[in-house]
Amino acid sequence: MASITINTAQCKGCALCISACPKNIIAIGTESNRGGYFSAEVVQPSSCIGCARCAIMCPDCCITVMK
Ligand code: SF4
Ligand code: SF4
Repeated sequence: MASITINTAQCKGCALCISACPKNIIAIGTESNRGGYFSAEVVQPSSCIGCARCAIMCPDCCITVMK
């Protein structure tokens, strides 16, 4: 069982994590954060395999992976 946590307040919505995820379970959300960015969110958490590609890709270190 793996899961990720996204620090949505820090996220800039660059979408690099979305393209990195082999399971296609990250998407840009519909609500903007305090910085005015539409942050990433996990749309299908149960499919996460804990590969950490998203966390490695994120330039702002917004993603924590737990496995
Ligand atoms: S850990 Fe891997 S499978 Fe899980 S959300 Fe990140 S890139 Fe996708
Ligand atoms: S890579 Fe990081 S900053 Fe970019 S959308 Fe994903 S979580 Fe947000």
